[in-house]
Amino acid sequence: MFDNYARNINYLRVSVTNRCNLRCKYCMPEEGVEDHGHDGILRFEEIEHLVRVATQIGVRKVRLTGGEPLVCKNITNLIADIARIPQIDDIAMTTNGILFADMADELRRAGLNRVNFSLDSLNQETFRYITSRGDINRVFRSIDKALDMGMAPIKINTVVMKGINDNEIIDFVKMTKTMPLHVRFIEFMPIGDLPFFKTDQVFTETEIKKTIEQKYELHNAAMVSGNGPARYFAIKDGIGTVGFISAMSNHFCGQCNRIRLTADGKLRSCLFGKQEINLKLALHNRVNDDKLAEMFCKAIREKPNRHHMDEGWGADNRRKMYQIGG
Ligand code: SAM
Ligand code: SF4
Repeated sequence: MFDNYARNINYLRVSVTNRCNLRCKYCMPEEGVEDHGHDGILRFEEIEHLVRVATQIGVRKVRLTGGEPLVCKNITNLIADIARIPQIDDIAMTTNGILFADMADELRRAGLNRVNFSLDSLNQETFRYITSRGDINRVFRSIDKALDMGMAPIKINTVVMKGINDNEIIDFVKMTKTMPLHVRFIEFMPIGDLPFFKTDQVFTETEIKKTIEQKYELHNAAMVSGNGPARYFAIKDGIGTVGFISAMSNHFCGQCNRIRLTADGKLRSCLFGKQEINLKLALHNRVNDDKLAEMFCKAIREKPNRHHMDEGWGADNRRKMYQIGG
C-alpha cells in the first residue's frame, strides 16, 4: 500500500519482547524492563495473525526485533509460522548476537533469511561498558557462525558515540576489507528519556566520514538488499561495505517503507512518532480481519512525511528504543 507521500509500505518490524539480556546504556535502564505479564504482550499466535492481516495491505517483509528477540522461548516456532504465510518473502532479525551462534541452525531451518548484529565496540572492556554486561566473544562467535552458514547480507549495526567508541571507526571499516560484512554506522538518537543522553555525544555522518577518509577513500557501493535506510560505500578492494544511518543529521524518511508493531501490540507508523493504534485491544475485542486491515491502512494513511526528532532532543519521546523495537 502507498502512503500519502508515495512511499510503498511493505515492511513490518515486529518487536517480539521488551526484555533483553543486555543493558545498552542508550536503550534500556539498568534495572531492566517493566513486567507486562503474559496478557500485556502479544502472544506468538497474535503476532502471526497480525502479520497475516498485514499481508492483505501489501506487507511482504518482516523483521523480528525487540528487546532481544532471542531471549524469547520458542522464537523458532514464530519464525516457522510466519514463514508459512505465502505472501511473506523475507524474514530477518536484529539481534545483539549473544545467543545467536547456538541457535543459528534451528533459526535458519525455521525460515530466517537474514540477520543484523548490533555491535558498538570491538574492544572487550568498551563493549562491556556500553552493554553493562555482555561478553563480546559470544557476538564474534555468532558473526563467524552466520558467515560460515553463508547468510547474506550480514549487517553490523554500530551506534557511534563521541568519546566512547568513535576511536574504533577505522577498526570497523577494516573488517569490510576482508569479510563480506556491511557495517552501518548509526547516529546516536535521543529516543526515550535515559540519563545517558547528551547532545554532544552525537557523532554525525559527516564526522564519521571525515574520520574514515583520513585513512581510506570511500566509493559509492550498490545498495545492500534489505530496504534499509542506509547509504552504502566501499573502500578499495573491500568485499564488504560501509553504510550510514543518519537519522539525526540527514533524515531518511523519504525512503521509509516500514511500519512497526510493538511487543505490547501497538501499531506505529514512525519510530519517532507518538501515534499508536492498539491492535492488542482490537484482538481482545475480537475485531474481524477486515477491520484489523483497516487499522493498518489508517496507520499508513497517517504516516508522517518525516520525523522531527532533531528538534528538541526527543524531549517528547518517552518510549525508549527497547519499548518500540529498534
Ligand atoms: N536487541 C537487539 C539488538 O540490539 O540488535 C534488537 C533491538 S535494538 C533496540 C535494535 C537496534 O537499535 C540496535 O542496533 C541498537 O543499537 C539500536 N538502538 C537502540 N537505541 C538506540 C539509540 N538511542 N540510538 C541509536 N540506535 C539505537
Ligand atoms: Fe538490548 Fe538491543 Fe537495547 Fe542493547 S540495543 S539493550 S541489546 S534491546
